[in-house]
Amino acid sequence: MKIEIPAYVQAVLTRLEGHGFEAYAVGGCVRDSMMGKTPHDWDVTTSALPHQTMTALQGFHLIETGLKHGTVTAVVEHQPVEITTFRVDGEYSDNRHPDEVHFTRSLQEDLSRRDFTVNALAYSPKTGLVDYFGGCSDIENKVIRCVGEPGRRFGEDALRILRGLRFASVLSFTIESATAQSLLQNRSLLQYIAAERISSELCRLLCGEQVFPILMDFFPVITEIIPELAPAVSFDQRNPYHTYTVYEHIAHSVAAAPSTIPLRLTMLLHDIAKPACCTEDETGRRHFHGHEDVGTEMAGTILRRLKLDNQTVSRVCTLIKYHDIDLEPTEKCVLSQLNLLGEEVFRELLLVKRADNTAQSEYAQNHTVKLLNELELVLERVLAQGRCFSLRGLAVNGSDLIAAGVPKGVELGKTLQYLLALVIDGECDNKKEKLLAKIPNLPRSANSP
Ligand code: ATP
Ligand code: MG
Repeated sequence: MKIEIPAYVQAVLTRLEGHGFEAYAVGGCVRDSMMGKTPHDWDVTTSALPHQTMTALQGFHLIETGLKHGTVTAVVEHQPVEITTFRVDGEYSDNRHPDEVHFTRSLQEDLSRRDFTVNALAYSPKTGLVDYFGGCSDIENKVIRCVGEPGRRFGEDALRILRGLRFASVLSFTIESATAQSLLQNRSLLQYIAAERISSELCRLLCGEQVFPILMDFFPVITEIIPELAPAVSFDQRNPYHTYTVYEHIAHSVAAAPSTIPLRLTMLLHDIAKPACCTEDETGRRHFHGHEDVGTEMAGTILRRLKLDNQTVSRVCTLIKYHDIDLEPTEKCVLSQLNLLGEEVFRELLLVKRADNTAQSEYAQNHTVKLLNELELVLERVLAQGRCFSLRGLAVNGSDLIAAGVPKGVELGKTLQYLLALVIDGECDNKKEKLLAKIPNLPRSANSP
């Protein structure tokens, strides 16, 4: 297999080799190339010590990214390349960082510290592919397997537990059984890992193609990170709308949603409060009144704990809050939702509802798919017509009302909202004269044109 090395990466390899050092593309970029995918970035590993790397690469823009760990970033043709000295990690006493790193002259040693066999591949056009740990055959068989003894590797750095799940989900690989077992056994070590690192891996895992089997098979890892989800596992909904337990429904709905971080996080957390809000009627049917509001609160707490950015937290909370709202395929309903949420969020809400619905019983699906299709038609129509759904689009503004005699202050805002509501409800055309004529309690003279 020939790997296409981009010219800017080749330039780095050539320079380092020209100075008498070994240099290889390494890790994800080799893995992705072997799978026929275009790597999103290229990392280089070299026998040169950091100061030697800097000397060899003089003339390129160099950034001392992490000299202590042996990493220099070179910007070549506006593209960053991370160059790291061959290194072995010292003891890990905290389950997340090596106490110290040692540089080595051995590529094999460097590859042996890497997490999974598929990530422990190196390549240079001069040497070809270097595969000490069976990474190639694991790529062929689509297997995630630790380099070395899994228990030790997860003990060194517990983030690897989530990385393993993330790679399996994104690459559509399965996790080799000793690795899978150990990953489950060591899940409590995730408590030592920084929230930002956890959430970054979790988000990538959620956006993967194979998120469903990963969420199902490795739920104890997920509930380790989000203990609030534990009651959902095996929680029977006993309701004709649902054939799945709450957690199964969640896993199906995550997989059914478009692969963006806000949507997938929304699906993961949208029903988290169902167990807490469950009531049973006299027929034994279960209801979950208020689970959207309690769930919104819980999601906010969880996402802030995971240190997600404020924009994502607020978007996910909004979508959870409204995920169960009743919508009618009428212009009035669509316009008032557009007023409440704006176009972008309303479109996302419809996607959330579709994903939620796909994961419900057939009975529920038949009922809702038709409704969602109709809603989308109405949405496209009112947008194409440029219909007014916010004060910005209203044919009168504050100055118009003042000119018509409405006093400044609270009254003015209320009157604008009142007129907007008339337009949204279809009770008044969005025309200046017609709107002015609808202003309540105005002396006649001020109301006439
Ligand atoms: P991607 O860039 O798609 O996330 P990647 O495999 O390149 O995948 P990076 O996080 O960029 O992942 O890491 C680059 C390489 O560094 C990995 O391929 C792996 O060899 C090594 N690596 C990264 N994180 C760890 C870790 N926690 N433990 C051991 N090796 C790691
Ligand atoms: Mg990478």
